[in-house]
Amino acid sequence: MENTKEAVIEIKNLTKKYGKNVAVDSINFTVNRGEIVGFLGPNGAGKSTTMNMLTGYLSATSGSARIDGYNILSNPKEVKQMVGYLPEMPPLYMDMTVLEYLNFVYELKKVELSRNEHISEIIEMTRLGKVQGKLINNLSKGYKQRVGLAQALIGNPEVLILDEPTIGLDPMQIIEVREMIKKFGENRTVIISTHILQEVNAICDRVIIINKGKIVAEDTIEHITKKNGEESAFQLRVKSDEKVASSVLSRAHNLIEEFKAMSKHEQGMTDFIVYTKDGVDTRGEIIKFLVENNLEIVMMKPVEMTLEEVFIKVVNGSDKKLESGVKA
Ligand code: ADP
Repeated sequence: MENTKEAVIEIKNLTKKYGKNVAVDSINFTVNRGEIVGFLGPNGAGKSTTMNMLTGYLSATSGSARIDGYNILSNPKEVKQMVGYLPEMPPLYMDMTVLEYLNFVYELKKVELSRNEHISEIIEMTRLGKVQGKLINNLSKGYKQRVGLAQALIGNPEVLILDEPTIGLDPMQIIEVREMIKKFGENRTVIISTHILQEVNAICDRVIIINKGKIVAEDTIEHITKKNGEESAFQLRVKSDEKVASSVLSRAHNLIEEFKAMSKHEQGMTDFIVYTKDGVDTRGEIIKFLVENNLEIVMMKPVEMTLEEVFIKVVNGSDKKLESGVKA
């Protein structure tokens, strides 16, 4: 399927309150057809609550969510048919065989595709062929997770929502499951919640970061790592030894938040990562200061932040904003 810019998932002012606690606070986002989006956030941020609302397992307090034009509140049946869901704890029946279970889900979802053909296809896609006659209870965690993925694929849903799909798996199993998700994502729209940032790098086109129930960042991984890196951090190479250069840099505390010498550098040179004060672009003033202090600048270039660093920055930054918001 072509990746057209057509919104498949549209969320508007979606809110969920548990008593006084606002778990999801008027969030808005869209996901386009064919996209694989990473839904990130620290524990308790509201990821599972959002996913449970999107899949119709939990009703929203207010706001709306549409999947392919169908409202999750007024058309829950259509939405359920369109969405394959892998919850954090897949609802597996341990005393069924894999094949029995997939047939059971087929009936539960009232699928109209040719049964044997469809189930065989899913078993092949999730590489469950060898264990299809085994009791789910006797499978390894990696295989159980594949069965979870297989049940989400029954009915050939347009949208897949996967909550922490690789949690608790060993490294080999993680790679296998990620490869499968990438493959399924070739012709589906996928939202994956995770707190493993490497997973987002490996699978996703775009990230949405949620913190304390609010969306705090939304962008492609390329943009988000560049945007957050450029202004606030840069790599600096000076023709000087580390001690002299450090002493000059430490005097620029009104322009520089922090600096770190990097371990490898050329003879007679020192490389630093410099974080500007309050994330403001003070590079021009820093250059002036270094020149005035007789430090020869050999190179200066923006640093791209890793997704980990972006995540910490965005979450900490939004924590501060939310806290000051409360004070005001
Ligand atoms: P995440 O999936 O990002 O870890 P959750 O969506 O599970 O976050 O939780 C968001 C917030 O809602 C948390 O503060 C959590 O304590 C609260 N919460 C989640 N489920 C319930 C519930 N059933 N009853 C009351 N509060 C809940």
